Parts: sequence; C-alpha cells; structure tokens
Amino acid sequence: MKRIMTCIECPQGCRLEIEADGARVISVSGNKCKRGAAYARQEIEAPMRTLTTAVLTRGLELKMLPVRSSKPIPKDKLFAAMAAVKLIVVTSPVHAGAVVAADFLGLGVDLLACRGLDKI
Ligand code: SF4
Repeated sequence: MKRIMTCIECPQGCRLEIEADGARVISVSGNKCKRGAAYARQEIEAPMRTLTTAVLTRGLELKMLPVRSSKPIPKDKLFAAMAAVKLIVVTSPVHAGAVVAADFLGLGVDLLACRGLDKI
C-alpha cells in the first residue's frame, strides 16, 4: 500500500511517498534527508504524540492547570490518557515544570505543569 505524507521535521515539508505492508514500512522516497525516513517510519509503525491538556484544581487561583507530557506517548494511548487526566485534581500550589503525575499510566513519562499556580 502506498501512502503520501508531508514530513514535518523541518520547514521544507518534503512530500514523502511510503510503501508499506500494513503497519510495516518497506520504503520511503521523496525525503531530502534521513530524518524524513525516520519520521515516516515512526508515523506508520508506532505514532507518538505529546499530550497537551488541562487538569482540574481546587483552592488555586485558576480552576484548570494546563499540563503536557514530558515526552510523546503512543498515539493509541491518548484516550486512556485523557480518561486518567479527568481524575486528577491539583490542590497544592505548583510551579511551571512541576511534576503533576509521575510515570503517567506507567508509560515512563511525567505529566508536567505548563505554568505555576498559587493558592487563592
Ligand atoms: S525530509 Fe529532511 S529536509 Fe525534508 S522536511 Fe523532513 S527533515 Fe526536512
């Protein structure tokens, strides 16, 4: 099966043509550097995404705290991650970059605060 994809690793945006057998990449063409081939292989075989969302707070200056994963997580874990995010309530002041949930979902990534929040 042939797939067309735009490489987003740099502003050149190469048009990648990927020959794949299901979720296994056979060949990549159209890339001007090896990062494009690696990007295509990752996207087809094991796509990852950085989770960016917000968690509830209680007793802090804002009702929601923006958070993000410290590293990308498997794309197929995003729904489970969002379900777990809904259960988190931050009640203590945090600083930007603070770990809100360590080893989130056992994926080896932390959920980090994107900003600081003080008590009301
Ligand atoms: S293949 Fe290389 S040159 Fe082309 S967009 Fe990707 S990173 Fe940039």
